[in-house]
Amino acid sequence: MIIILQSDATEEQLRHVVQRVEALGLNAHLSRGTHRTVIGVIGDEAKIAAAPLQAIPGVAQVVPVLPPYKLASSEAHPQPSVIEIGHVQIGGPFVGMIAGPCAIESARQMETIAAAVHRAGANILRGGAFKPRTSPYAFQGLGEEGLKILRDTGDKFDMPVLTEVMDPRRVELVNRYADMIQIGARNMQNFVLLKEVGQLQKPVLLKRGMSATIKELLMSAEYVLSQGNPHVVLCERGIKGFDPETRNVFDLAAVPAIKALSHLPIVVDPSHATGRPDLIPACALAGAAAGADGIHIEVHHCPEEALSDGPQALLPEQYTQLVAQIRKIVEILGRQIPSAGATPK
Ligand code: PEP
Ligand code: MN
Repeated sequence: MIIILQSDATEEQLRHVVQRVEALGLNAHLSRGTHRTVIGVIGDEAKIAAAPLQAIPGVAQVVPVLPPYKLASSEAHPQPSVIEIGHVQIGGPFVGMIAGPCAIESARQMETIAAAVHRAGANILRGGAFKPRTSPYAFQGLGEEGLKILRDTGDKFDMPVLTEVMDPRRVELVNRYADMIQIGARNMQNFVLLKEVGQLQKPVLLKRGMSATIKELLMSAEYVLSQGNPHVVLCERGIKGFDPETRNVFDLAAVPAIKALSHLPIVVDPSHATGRPDLIPACALAGAAAGADGIHIEVHHCPEEALSDGPQALLPEQYTQLVAQIRKIVEILGRQIPSAGATPK
């Protein structure tokens, strides 16, 4: 961190700044220019970030040298991280194909959809048992019954399963059934929840909040990492815009932008980003071409009967066609889609 003093800062103010820095157990290195004096602060980054150095009289500016998301940053970890979800990897050369319905509705529904997406080449099965619905009157999910269905279906098709947790009090329950735990967009800054999943050693899919900056997403990842859980995968799922033509604005540039800043894998979710099945294939292909480490898509065999997000669901045959196209792009980039388990049991 560098402290730049005001041009009219007095010697007394300078001494005071140095005293404050040293009182924090940090080292101050002075550099006197003709117009300005700057102080290089060396020491424990966490102490530096927590100290309100900007408030000291005579200080013009405090410039961080390292990003505040220390563990998530590519400086801390130059190689891209590969996260293992059961036998499937995401990141590095591996591109995860996450698919399934928005909500788990019944064993028969899950079996039908899992069979279709497994055949198409998906390697992680998703489904929500606790749904964050805008309306309290909308279907809220099957709860633990849904988790059991998801677990059984995943086991049958040898696919690791992903499901959302919304409540810190349910983390223990969801952890018993899931191979990967989703933190949804609405909870990206639920810091209590982030700390709770940070206590686990279970992969976490952390979705970008609908009005969150990339830096805020990385700071939320830092919450999980700093608790001791290194298995974090980020997800770009669209941010709020002003145009109702699409459900959200798909921020494709977030993919390479995040890759430049962080070693964590980044998945795209064109289903929630666009909310339109006719736009999902193009955005999924663009995501793969941009280097996304996974493609997350909602699929339903009968969207008109779906209890959640039916209007944006791809039909199994549309998904099958799309995976074949994504596979070509992935291969051009020298990457691969890990396969799910061999044959349904
Ligand atoms: C979902 O995955 O079904 C979901 C609710 O996602 P998001 O948090 O991105 O809206
Ligand atoms: Mn959904």
